Amino acid sequence: MTNFAKALQALGDAVAALSSAALADDGLRDRSDDELLHALGAAAAVNRGIEAVMVEAVGLLRERDELRAHPDRTTTRYGCRNLNELVQRATRASGRSVSDLATASRAVQRRIATSTGKLLPAEFPNLRAALAEGRVGLDAVIAVASVFRRGGVGTTGLLAADEELAAAACGTGPEAAGPASADELRALAQVWAAYLDPDGAEPVETRALRKRGLTLGRRDGDGLVPVRGNLLPEVAAQLRLGFDSVLNPRGEGAPPMGPCFSEAPAGAQPDDETGEPSEAAADSRSWPQKQHDALAVVLAAAAASGELPTLGGAAPTLVVSVREEDLVAGHGYAHLPGDDEPISIAAARQVACAGAVQRVMIADNGRIVSLVTLERVFNHRQRRAIGLRDGGCVIPGCRVPPQWCEVHHVEEHSRGGPTHTDNGVLLCWFHHRTIDTGGWQVRMIDGVPYVKGPYWWDAEVRWRPVTKSPSRRLDRIAPRL
Ligand SMILES: [Zn+2]
Repeated sequence: MTNFAKALQALGDAVAALSSAALADDGLRDRSDDELLHALGAAAAVNRGIEAVMVEAVGLLRERDELRAHPDRTTTRYGCRNLNELVQRATRASGRSVSDLATASRAVQRRIATSTGKLLPAEFPNLRAALAEGRVGLDAVIAVASVFRRGGVGTTGLLAADEELAAAACGTGPEAAGPASADELRALAQVWAAYLDPDGAEPVETRALRKRGLTLGRRDGDGLVPVRGNLLPEVAAQLRLGFDSVLNPRGEGAPPMGPCFSEAPAGAQPDDETGEPSEAAADSRSWPQKQHDALAVVLAAAAASGELPTLGGAAPTLVVSVREEDLVAGHGYAHLPGDDEPISIAAARQVACAGAVQRVMIADNGRIVSLVTLERVFNHRQRRAIGLRDGGCVIPGCRVPPQWCEVHHVEEHSRGGPTHTDNGVLLCWFHHRTIDTGGWQVRMIDGVPYVKGPYWWDAEVRWRPVTKSPSRRLDRIAPRL
């Protein structure tokens, strides 16, 4: 085996010389399109061969760990919690890539029968052969394996599918099509699975129960966390009710069907009767964006309800850590627990404004010197009074009702703003999050909130008193009646 590793190392050196010529010396820059495509294809072929070796090695490591007692396992001896961690260390690949290797190895690895000690054929023997010949790569094996992973297809059917799919991947299938890409192979595998799956007659609900799920992906390059999943209809209905109660509290108007992407309305028309800027034009969020913000509100309300199980002895509390000087200065970064990538100071400020703050003083050597909790949360009576005064999020056009709003310190607490009703206004999650950047300004004049809107909403751009409270509106109208 030492020779095997040595041979791979020699190959690695040869590849490194080529990649150096391509990148460090800009050797590919003056090549023709044709040459570039040839280079790409050849590199992919080398890559497929390397992937085959990695898939086999990961499969064998797993098999040995499964057969050995805990203290003798490779993972234990190398001080790793599990195989994924061990392989990450050996390959420097991401956890996700290592999971892919494991998934592929389950499909194409030959196993030892525990009863007889004999070597059994792989689940997909033809795919294994194609992998060995460098004709299919990791992508293709995963495309096939993931389609059949949920089971339900017998061995005979699986072997028939394996033969056809491996032939399609190599371009030697009966239809004489060229070698299939991984995506084409997945589509083909889905056709086979649908044909072979004997549980086609399974009651819809049982299948739905099995298929239910919700996953949060990893934060992507755009700073967003993808959400994927399938909800049971009753769970979706409950979620929709939550959205409606936040976005459409008075049951006015129907939400648009399907996604609707609207721009900030240009030249919004003033209200005919009062001559003031129209409220309807003020909210420029698309419907999916509104649903996202409503979800934030629903989750915060659930966390604050006291009905959720506690975590570490406290209600599930979102904790954001940030350097105090960055929070005050308004630039720099903050962090969420368990996430290496930073979040913006604006996000940290929102949490700090509406929640409690713990100031932790840390000495140069890292020792905690002092721990102070700053009480800056508006109490229930203050909240109720502010709710009565403001009647909901004070930003024009926003219909989030008071019970779903956060109380915003107009004068920031860190700049001396008191936790007093004269300094607190109701803002929904979204308008609180974007209060520094969204074009809306809020100030208190004699204890009453005033809003200055962006030019597209109010051509005069002046301070206007705001309230959504029915009783206060009546107070204002009554003298005119
Ligand atoms: Zn709002």
